[in-house]
Amino acid sequence: MLTITTNKAEVKGIAERTITERALPITDFWTKRIVNLLGFSDSDKRTILHNLAENRKGTTDAERDVTFTAGGAAAVTVKVTIRIGQKSGVDCFILTIRDILEVRGVAEDEGQEAEPEVVGMPNAPAVRVMTRQIGFCKYCNQGRTIEAPEGSSAADLNELATEECECDEARRQRERRARMEAAGAWAQNVFSNQDGQLQTVLCAIHSTFEGAIDSVTIKIGKRTHKIDTDSDGMIRIRSTFRDSNEETF
Ligand SMILES: [Zn+2]
Repeated sequence: MLTITTNKAEVKGIAERTITERALPITDFWTKRIVNLLGFSDSDKRTILHNLAENRKGTTDAERDVTFTAGGAAAVTVKVTIRIGQKSGVDCFILTIRDILEVRGVAEDEGQEAEPEVVGMPNAPAVRVMTRQIGFCKYCNQGRTIEAPEGSSAADLNELATEECECDEARRQRERRARMEAAGAWAQNVFSNQDGQLQTVLCAIHSTFEGAIDSVTIKIGKRTHKIDTDSDGMIRIRSTFRDSNEETF
């Protein structure tokens, strides 16, 4: 986790997603912190700087938590990816904000004291109060009003907003999930969940659909199931049954 001290306007802008990038100068101070944030030590500095500038996997796609704080009165914790790019013609570290994790102290009016944080009421009845709140689609960043339980985290609100968003990517991801669920339902009917068969098949479906594995062949007795995806990205499961009449005496 890296903490960046800033002003309240910037914390607010980040929380409201009007600010999606933050540049930091490539000084010794920031280089040390960025390298550590990425999980490397000072001796790896040159390599990491090179990888950040060259957009190498493992550095520019690594998501890390960063807190922007305005003197403790307001703070926003976000997930960022980091690269080296140009701002006003100068090379800088550029932090791209990917997700808002937690926002504190930006809602109240200017000049007013922050309300004390409610830490929970020990004898409160287990009632979920639904309120209209704002969440942001994970794919297009569009904000929308959604009904959500009071006290939902920013991540939960974003999840709900994504669920309802009509942008292409959100629709595509919903469709993908529906396909995965259909394949999972099929597998539950065909395989036993007593002895690891079902778990193996579900894992195979998942990793081929995600593209991590091209295909998986599972043999159970006389049946062979080949799991892969077709050219339209649909999950394809071809099952064959072989009964050989070979007998030995
Ligand atoms: Zn969207």
